[in-house]
Amino acid sequence: MLQVYSAQHPTEAHYVKGLLESGGIACVVRGESLFAARGELPITTETAPSIWIVDDATYNDAIEVINEYEKLRNKDTANDPKWVCKKCGEESEAQFTDCWNCLEPRDPE
Ligand SMILES: [Zn+2]
Repeated sequence: MLQVYSAQHPTEAHYVKGLLESGGIACVVRGESLFAARGELPITTETAPSIWIVDDATYNDAIEVINEYEKLRNKDTANDPKWVCKKCGEESEAQFTDCWNCLEPRDPE
């Protein structure tokens, strides 16, 4: 058993577990009871629910899945609206500072 991820809360832990399982990686969530019991205690890495893989041989695959998940999650949390290029009118995602189409910089508004 190896720990591959420390989640913010049980919902996230189960989401990541589902991702791993759909990739054929057997895993378990640990620490949920701690989460329920700790009430008002501050969230720490010791009390957060964590994901453990059953077979150590799947570790690299698991890390790959988690890296993909974190990339997507970071994208989601940067949920600024898309912006429209003043030069060519194309929409760019909020995380881009230049137009993907014509490389015109985003106007500071
Ligand atoms: Zn443009």
